Amino acid sequence: MWFSYLVAFLLTWQVFCHAINNPSSEEKQADYSGYSLHRFKVDTSSNTMEKLESYDMELDKNTQTARLLIDIWAEPSKQNPHADILVAPEFLEKFKALLTREELVTLKMIEGDVQSQINAERHAMFRNSIRRRKRSLKSWKDFDVNSYHSYDKMVEFMKLLSEQKSDMVELIKVATSSEGRSIYGVKIHPPGGSPPEKPSIIVDAGVHAREWIAPAVGLFMIRKIVDEYGRDPQVTANLQKFDWYIMPQVNPDGYEYSRTSDRLWRKTRSKNTTVNRWCIGADANRNWGYRWGEAGANRTPCSNIYMGSHPYSEPEIRGLKEYFTWQIANPMVYISLHSYGQLLLSPWGYTHERTENYQDQQNAAKEAAMAIKNTTGVSYSYGTISEMMYPASGTSIDFMQHRGVPYIYGVELRPTDNPNSFAFNLPPSFIRATGDEMMAALNAIGTHAVKVKRL
Ligand SMILES: [Zn+2]
Repeated sequence: MWFSYLVAFLLTWQVFCHAINNPSSEEKQADYSGYSLHRFKVDTSSNTMEKLESYDMELDKNTQTARLLIDIWAEPSKQNPHADILVAPEFLEKFKALLTREELVTLKMIEGDVQSQINAERHAMFRNSIRRRKRSLKSWKDFDVNSYHSYDKMVEFMKLLSEQKSDMVELIKVATSSEGRSIYGVKIHPPGGSPPEKPSIIVDAGVHAREWIAPAVGLFMIRKIVDEYGRDPQVTANLQKFDWYIMPQVNPDGYEYSRTSDRLWRKTRSKNTTVNRWCIGADANRNWGYRWGEAGANRTPCSNIYMGSHPYSEPEIRGLKEYFTWQIANPMVYISLHSYGQLLLSPWGYTHERTENYQDQQNAAKEAAMAIKNTTGVSYSYGTISEMMYPASGTSIDFMQHRGVPYIYGVELRPTDNPNSFAFNLPPSFIRATGDEMMAALNAIGTHAVKVKRL
């Protein structure tokens, strides 16, 4: 008996070592050895961040590869004027010199070797996958919302849920990605359906590939609404008042690429060889057509915030726009989940001017932040994109505002001031608390909308 255990152990160990040393059999992993993460205080009225951002990529025409030199992970905001920036080892001296010139002296290194953090996350995921094996789900209840999953597994869960809870959940297809993946979401309504003009709450997540906590929270909320309907009074009331559209992963190509090849991938995976042969993808949250290419836009295809060759050049965003425009009759709340920074960001992004419903949006955000605080004790700040940080145009937030949706927030989920500096590598043990607080925030915004709009 012990011998078979020993053989089984050795085989598992061999597979484990192979996977760690050769993380993906078909594709080489991006390597961030020696990249360090820095936090420093910035005067948000200066253009320091724009200056730094202009150095983000270096293109080596001999090897035809783009190498990341600098990457902004967390933008400073008025409430928290600290920036987190990833710096390539060969750029570190120049980076420090630039900061000295800008008289920024409070530099603090919060992670010395980002690759070791990425490796630790991969080890943990691999141990988890050995434990769970690749079993297919028998019931939607078997889906573990407290883990990070492949896109296929997310779709399997949503399909199963829509079959087994067909009185409440409809599977919706919103777009097809550049690489041909179907982008699914769910529409959740009370058993028996809803009248056609019922107001809706719309949630999308995963726009930026590496922000893994966002799709995990989207899936967590789907499960929570279905589970708690009829049990939790707030969930029940908000499902009776609103239809919920939740699209937990709207950039599946980028997400899978971040899982298999480059953990820090942010953009889509579109190829546009007429524009640039070397650099792939666009920033899906700079590609919306309303005020596309204005403030804070980047026209360099290699940049991490490249706005795309034209408005809606990315099929994911084109599909979302069509779906939002033609399939959702009465959108009342729109939330786009991102990470990280613990912020609730409302329009406008392209200008410092205030929207006409600015005060009402801020009132709802205040209630959401209070609900979060009461649920997990964590603090989220709120304000408009342009007033909290730097202008950004071509975002879904501005598109939805232009469309007349009353309550709109781009949410930067956890972490922020965490001493562990998890950044994008937030361990799955945080999914539950982050999901619970976001559910509380959305319930608070829903309750506010019901009161103010007399729904
Ligand atoms: Zn994001």
